Amino acid sequence: MRLNKRVTVTNSELQTFRSCRQLWDFTYRHLLRPKRSARPLAVGSAIHSGLAGMYRFIYECQKLGINASTDEVVNAAHRGMNNKLAEHLQGLYEKMEADPRGLNIDELVDESRATEAEVEGTVLRYVEAFASDMQNYRVLAVEQAFAAPMLADDGRATPRLMYRGVFDLVLFDPNIGDVILCEHKSTAGDARLVESKIDMDPQTTGYIWTLGRRHFTAKWKGAAPELYEHLDAPVGRVFYNVLRKSGPKQPKWTKDGTLSSAACDTTRDVYEAALRIQEERGGPREDGKLVGPKPRSEKQIEVLNAMSNDTGKWMKRHEVWHSEEEQQRWRREVVVEGGLVRRAIAGKLPVVRNPGNCNMPWSMPCRYRGICRHDTQAGRELDFKVVADPHMEVVESEEDQGGAV
Ligand code: SF4
Repeated sequence: MRLNKRVTVTNSELQTFRSCRQLWDFTYRHLLRPKRSARPLAVGSAIHSGLAGMYRFIYECQKLGINASTDEVVNAAHRGMNNKLAEHLQGLYEKMEADPRGLNIDELVDESRATEAEVEGTVLRYVEAFASDMQNYRVLAVEQAFAAPMLADDGRATPRLMYRGVFDLVLFDPNIGDVILCEHKSTAGDARLVESKIDMDPQTTGYIWTLGRRHFTAKWKGAAPELYEHLDAPVGRVFYNVLRKSGPKQPKWTKDGTLSSAACDTTRDVYEAALRIQEERGGPREDGKLVGPKPRSEKQIEVLNAMSNDTGKWMKRHEVWHSEEEQQRWRREVVVEGGLVRRAIAGKLPVVRNPGNCNMPWSMPCRYRGICRHDTQAGRELDFKVVADPHMEVVESEEDQGGAV
């Protein structure tokens, strides 16, 4: 059970506290975490790790004054994602061993290949879209864990309230002369539609507030020395990189070996390439043999003409600016909410359920439903482990980082 000494909060904890007090109680007070990582979480974590590996490599090259090639950057991304993919495979294997009636070996192999393809495709699309980052910006910090004291209205540190988190990436723009916070978000839907939600995400406001006060970073664990440079540079700009986990789809072949002219979630280039295959050798029949060349039909030309090569659906960088006023509003809210969290840890606030949060359309159903409905020690032990720190994700990032950038 978490003790009520100095309270350290993260954005995730505050968000959980706001959305369901019972969920917060399980997660941050009793420190229970699901034993098995769900696939969407594994994909998101491996994508993050791949991008971190890539930007760490770019950071090292920039320090030495070397221009990294795209191939080298892609290799670094692979090295970054491989550990997380291996962890996911290990988790699947343990799941299969624990319950042989659930997953069989073929399904395990399929699942692991699908995860790898999803992660690899997403990271490669990112490299393709933002290769210019290597030349245009200087990397200051990658996956940088931080802990900063919250400040009261008079500018003094509030007693016993710390704010903790991890900057995905911090860049310096030599052309404009400002420091940019970059956050990577993976999504299952259209990357363009996330724009409307960015203003509602307090995380980037909080991170900008913290980054803007980096003269306090002397106390941060393992802060990259480059964060102390450019202290006078303005801070407020955010690159919100949204990565869709699945890429443009391959159009389907019909039974007669021609390309389907039904609507397909893909780009004009992908559809055009498939049409060329149809014209050169035709698609596969049911027995796998090619049917031979077939000209493109009028309907297919119509479908092709209606398509575009806008890849924003799959990869989009949204740029936002957080004003000083927004940052101060965020700070005041966290000081108040941090006080509520402290009272709840001490058992002075009732732990209430919010059934409206159990099944939200944009996220997985709550993974604590079983013990929420019927809480037993056996139920807890079957599906959950007790972690050593309420903010394990930050601790893991510090460990991955090993004190380096
Ligand atoms: S199942 Fe619903 S009420 Fe229970 S902890 Fe989860 S979100 Fe809260």
